[in-house]
Amino acid sequence: MNPLNVYNPATGELISTLPADDAVSVAAKAAQARIAHAAWAKVPMAERKACISRFRAGIAAELDALAAIMTRETGKPISMSRNELNGLLTRIDFFLAEVDTSTDMQTVFDDGGMREEIEHTPLGVVANISAWNYPWFVGGNVFIPALLTGNAVLYKPSEYAAMTGLAIAQLLHAAGVPKDAFAALIGGAEVGSALLAQKIDGLFFTGSHATGIKIAQVLGPRLIKLQLELGGKDPTYVCEDANIQIAAASLADGAMYNTGQSCCSVERIYVHEKIYDAFVAALVTTVKTFKVGDPMDAATYIGAITRAQQLDVLDAQVKDAKAKGATLLLGGQRLPGPGNWFAPTVFSNVNHTMELMKEESFGPIIGIQKVSGDAEAVHLMNDTRYGLTAGVFTPDEARAKALLAQVNAGSVYWNCCDRVSPRLPWSGHGDSGVGLTLSTYGIQTFTRPKAWHLRQAT
Ligand code: NAD
Repeated sequence: MNPLNVYNPATGELISTLPADDAVSVAAKAAQARIAHAAWAKVPMAERKACISRFRAGIAAELDALAAIMTRETGKPISMSRNELNGLLTRIDFFLAEVDTSTDMQTVFDDGGMREEIEHTPLGVVANISAWNYPWFVGGNVFIPALLTGNAVLYKPSEYAAMTGLAIAQLLHAAGVPKDAFAALIGGAEVGSALLAQKIDGLFFTGSHATGIKIAQVLGPRLIKLQLELGGKDPTYVCEDANIQIAAASLADGAMYNTGQSCCSVERIYVHEKIYDAFVAALVTTVKTFKVGDPMDAATYIGAITRAQQLDVLDAQVKDAKAKGATLLLGGQRLPGPGNWFAPTVFSNVNHTMELMKEESFGPIIGIQKVSGDAEAVHLMNDTRYGLTAGVFTPDEARAKALLAQVNAGSVYWNCCDRVSPRLPWSGHGDSGVGLTLSTYGIQTFTRPKAWHLRQAT
């Protein structure tokens, strides 16, 4: 087995060397998961729920230590690590409350001796290849409902969140989930690739579009369930009647929270020409208040860039935007190391010839474009290959709804942004992916509906 070195992106220090998986160990874990699934699927729902409740209690008891692990390996500000874990507790509560009614045997017809029922059977052994930016959220959206509904899970955390992945496995096993019914696979792309080669019944992926396409190409001919939750280039339009200060504060947060490394970060802002200058000034004022620094400091708002390679993407977008005439108002460069740092960056006078407005930035950078009105805003919001989220700021609900109805996005926001709810389905249009997690649909997605046609003997 090759070891996996884990570095702190805020300091560049080696913080751990983990034993990693290889093709042989991945195959062994997949075979054991197949056996474990048969038994786990027979465990009564009440007992499976009790395991997940104990898992929840384990997280709550160790929340500060778990937050520190995530912050050390990803550079996420510690307050946001705690927020993620607290948010996960709420998501677990939702899954526990909804799993019975979402998956109970359902009678849909009963007349004249003929009965029709729908049964929700587990998929079997599901693979979950996950991202590092919200490892508890994006992993938990999959493995919690998957386990509750009787699947075995092969969980490959990102190599940038592997210590968190191991902590998840340890807590689940301590809570009573059998060791082989949930296995963590440690390593990078090669371990993900090895996982695709196994006999699995579903693949649930969160990560980049580029990797999602590679996975789809490998798994397409296998005809197994495939969900891909990919990137975004999420727009918001600020109408001329919006409250400028509130919109600017909300969108600065939406663009820069988690150092801009959120799938649903605000990545493009369009502002009506009547309030453009005032909005730009207000957003810059807010971003200037964001404290950049040690992610372990509770006052820090902007932490490290998790993957050093992303700094090249940010540099290239800045260079391209400047060359094409954008106005740099703040930041625009790396900050001194050690570690991976990028200054919070704001551009105005941007347009759609610039990479900054076309390709996912995944960092603390935002472009603001002036628009003449609603029609231009809608046109620009839809001028993207992605479609994860989109928002509108205006006091006029009817206007917001009319605009958002025209926008291609899985989630739409009125006077808010960068928000995920366990009660609502999370999905993307276009290159943002296929399938969904969360909501009751995101429980049923880990099951296969079986149709029962039952006629009473006469
Ligand atoms: P990534 O694609 O680099 O990696 C994701 C996972 O895929 C990792 O575990 C990685 O080891 C694995 N992997 C890489 N190559 C593989 C291969 N050939 N075969 C199998 N597995 C492979 O993405 P990332 O940097 O971890 O995450 C950032 C991306 O995730 C961003 O684009 C972000 O928008 C997206 N994201 C989307 C959502 C969503 O809900 N839509 C949520 C979080 C993150």
